[in-house]
Amino acid sequence: MQTEIKPHKAVPHIVIVGGGAGGLELATTLGNKLGKKQKAKITLIDKHRVHIWKPLLHEVATGSLDTEIDGVVYRAHAKRHHYQFQLGQLVDLDRESKRLSFAPILDDEENEVVEERQIGYDTLVLAIGSISNDFGTPGVQEFCSLLDSKHQAQRFQQKLLNLFLKKSSTTESAEDPIRLAIVGAGATGVELSAELNHVVDVVSVYDNMTEGKTSLSIDLIEAGERILPALPERIAESATAELEKLGVRVRTNTRITEANQNGFVNDSGELIEADLMVWAAGVKAESWLSVVGLKTNRINQVECFRTLKSLSDPSIYAIGDCCHVEMEEGGKVPPRAQSAHQMASTVAKNIVRELSGKDLVEFKYTDYGSLVNLARFSTVGSLMGNLVKGSMFIEGKIARLMYLSLYRMHQLSIHGFIKGPFVILLSQISKIIRPKIKLH
Ligand SMILES: Cc1cc2nc3c(=O)[nH]c(=O)nc-3n(C[C@H](O)[C@H](O)[C@H](O)COP(=O)(O)OP(=O)(O)OC[C@H]3O[C@@H](n4cnc5c(N)ncnc54)[C@H](O)[C@@H]3O)c2cc1C
Repeated sequence: MQTEIKPHKAVPHIVIVGGGAGGLELATTLGNKLGKKQKAKITLIDKHRVHIWKPLLHEVATGSLDTEIDGVVYRAHAKRHHYQFQLGQLVDLDRESKRLSFAPILDDEENEVVEERQIGYDTLVLAIGSISNDFGTPGVQEFCSLLDSKHQAQRFQQKLLNLFLKKSSTTESAEDPIRLAIVGAGATGVELSAELNHVVDVVSVYDNMTEGKTSLSIDLIEAGERILPALPERIAESATAELEKLGVRVRTNTRITEANQNGFVNDSGELIEADLMVWAAGVKAESWLSVVGLKTNRINQVECFRTLKSLSDPSIYAIGDCCHVEMEEGGKVPPRAQSAHQMASTVAKNIVRELSGKDLVEFKYTDYGSLVNLARFSTVGSLMGNLVKGSMFIEGKIARLMYLSLYRMHQLSIHGFIKGPFVILLSQISKIIRPKIKLH
């Protein structure tokens, strides 16, 4: 039997689905602006209980990030910022009756804890992000690790630790490296390759499992002509040089046609052997978005006007990776944390303006540049837009500082300027006092 949760009718009910880089910032702003003064009821719904900023997932995967410190518990955060939180996975949307359907919530033993529910809305914001795009490549779902969520990143970390454990208990092959292969040399693949090198150093210091003998062999595989295809060539060149210094084998112009239990097969039939395989070759939005009658593009992103309202429904906005919006100067807004952050600000403004009968503003994307962090080894990138005139290549300590500032901005927008600095300080202290990587 389905339970229906009735919306509070006295004030408009604004429902945000997805509490990620964009959705959590939006819920915080609207909670503080409208929820606090009871001008609207704000509900945030996410399929997970704890928020982790997605660009940090490669650090979760290698165990270098403490999710207990950097995670934000939605329920506690909601209370502080005057919105409501509900746990749930959106599975369907009835636009005519303005109702959302959520899958039953199951416990670890697959017993039903909460039955399937429906929730009504007046305004809906879709902020459900993206998932890895395997382009239909056989074997990827079965044999590869994906880095779409904290759980997937933690599963990868467990597999990695188990490989170290296995190595440490077999004496004769201790010097054979653990073989990792990563498909996709965008920011995720590149940052993960560097972070993994960092891990092998730290594991040998903290746990004598391998007595320093175990090494990692990493293949970073890219179908295109160069790594970091979405970023300027100079960044790609600099990152390639850094990765090669670390011993990462960068294989460009290599199209993968299959994944199997032994590794990846390329289009010339060559097998790239691997003990652990990661697929990070592109993103797409959830496919059900295209079957609920919303106009979507070929990767299922909701097509929006520049006000960030769906082309098909004036009650629905989309932000972040699940939104497709053309820029004024042509081209689409890239799926990045800075896009989600900027879109959240525009939609917050538009929802407030709509409630007071004002015209909506148009989204204007500002590219502040792109930075790629190669663990503790290096950071390279470019700054653009308002920060410098044109584009400026940066690397080293300044680049690292700028890279960290994107996350700090996210922390300040969700915790505020009083609590935010304490949260940042706590996470810095934790980095000093705990082992550099999680060894369990
Ligand atoms: C490893 C990695 C490194 C990255 N590094 C960078 C970087 O350095 N710089 C950068 O700008 N970008 C980076 N990105 C991209 C960036 O993380 C995304 O562009 C950004 O997080 C998108 O924000 P979002 O709010 O659209 O979605 P997300 O942050 O992904 O949030 C989506 C939320 O929706 C929830 N959700 C999903 N489906 C449902 C559902 N059906 N029902 C309920 N809830 C749902 C999820 O649990 C999640 O909380 C990186 C991505 C990865 C994976």
